[in-house]
Amino acid sequence: MIKIDREECIGCGECVEVCPVDALSLDSEEKAVVDEDTCTSCGLCISTCPTNAIETKIMARKGDTSQYSGVWVFGETNDGNLKEVGPQLLGKGRELASEFNDQLSAVVIGSDVKDAAAKCGNYGAEKVYMVEGEEFDQYKTLPFSFAMSQLISEFKPRVVLYGATHLGRDLAPSVAGRLGLGLTADCTGLSIKEEDGEKLLLQTRPAFGGNLIAEIVCPNTRPQMATVRPNVFSCPEETENSQPEIIEREVDLNPELFKVEILERLSGEEGEVGVEEADVVIAGGRGVGSEENFQLLEELADALDGVVGCSRPIVEDGWLSKAHQVGQSGKTVSPKLYIACGISGAIQHKVGIRDSDTIIAINKDPEAPIFDVADLSVVGDLHEVLPELLELLGGEDGS
Ligand SMILES: Cc1cc2nc3c(=O)[nH]c(=O)nc-3n(C[C@H](O)[C@H](O)[C@H](O)COP(=O)(O)OP(=O)(O)OC[C@H]3O[C@@H](n4cnc5c(N)ncnc54)[C@H](O)[C@@H]3O)c2cc1C
Repeated sequence: MIKIDREECIGCGECVEVCPVDALSLDSEEKAVVDEDTCTSCGLCISTCPTNAIETKIMARKGDTSQYSGVWVFGETNDGNLKEVGPQLLGKGRELASEFNDQLSAVVIGSDVKDAAAKCGNYGAEKVYMVEGEEFDQYKTLPFSFAMSQLISEFKPRVVLYGATHLGRDLAPSVAGRLGLGLTADCTGLSIKEEDGEKLLLQTRPAFGGNLIAEIVCPNTRPQMATVRPNVFSCPEETENSQPEIIEREVDLNPELFKVEILERLSGEEGEVGVEEADVVIAGGRGVGSEENFQLLEELADALDGVVGCSRPIVEDGWLSKAHQVGQSGKTVSPKLYIACGISGAIQHKVGIRDSDTIIAINKDPEAPIFDVADLSVVGDLHEVLPELLELLGGEDGS
């Protein structure tokens, strides 16, 4: 949230001009005023103001933390269907809620999302806060973050978890900015830490290029908010007909919140790779040697009904698109079988594969760090090992 120093404001109106969401205006005294409902805390006005009259208002709320209880999970939907990361977070949320001695709830915002809301109960949500309406048909930052902020302000949860999806990565910081909260992005672990007699959410994530694991707590603001990548936590088993309590809220939306118009939705090759959902991932690294050599991995992936993944240098060299990249700055995967071919096993790669059921590593260097996490280590040249493997899979009759 931003704060305007009226003494310093000279009424030049430059902030009004630059504001992308028209949240600023000049009042009758020719001083800038902000509409807090519309402001996205983007900070453009702060850098534009010639008299430094605008600053970020930090809303430390230490003192009222006792009013906050409950663990919430944002249940992201796509065309009314609950995305998998929601149930995964509900699984983890259940553990946290038990330790906090809290209720576990989900939040679902969208049009035609009653089924998705009910489904959250099947994965452990005791309550589901639902905001439903045509105006939420397509995701737009301002209406969604406004609705989410309204719910948070009314019901005061202790913890809110979002999937670190494209949507979650956009929504969570917008809510954090709107309410002046902390947010830890891309967590790879969540637990509870006791500090000064209070139980806090301990948020773990790689830092400094993955060379350090940072442990972060938010002692001053509530709720404590984190985004978590899909597949970091496993999905709990679904139970049928759980019938959670559905709390429906209508949100009065200012037309100003609908400045962004979605003209077209395109889904291209990026979305089709699906390394995150695949049961089998055949991943190649620099050891594969060339773009053409990836054909061998494609064949193995076809034979095992899997998809091809890769390490970061493969994307940097333009051999495969970013959608294939596995690791810290790529996708986190949790397949039944991960075959790493010619991948050394840098920490930034390993962090993305650690939830795989079985890891087979093929590398000609017996000291390669990938072998530290492999269930089956094959020391050898992948150009010899993969053709043999393909032959074995083909069977004697080639079937
Ligand atoms: C901030 C940051 C984020 C990053 N994010 C990611 C990420 O998301 N994903 C990622 O993968 N990396 C990421 N990296 C890069 C990472 O640090 C490594 O540089 C990268 O993973 C190395 O890729 P590689 O294993 O393919 O290549 P290399 O480290 O060069 O390893 C190649 C391996 O192939 C083996 N080899 C060579 N020829 C053969 C053969 N014929 N048969 C068998 N084995 C062979 C070699 O022995 C070697 O072990 C990130 C780095 C930073 C700083």
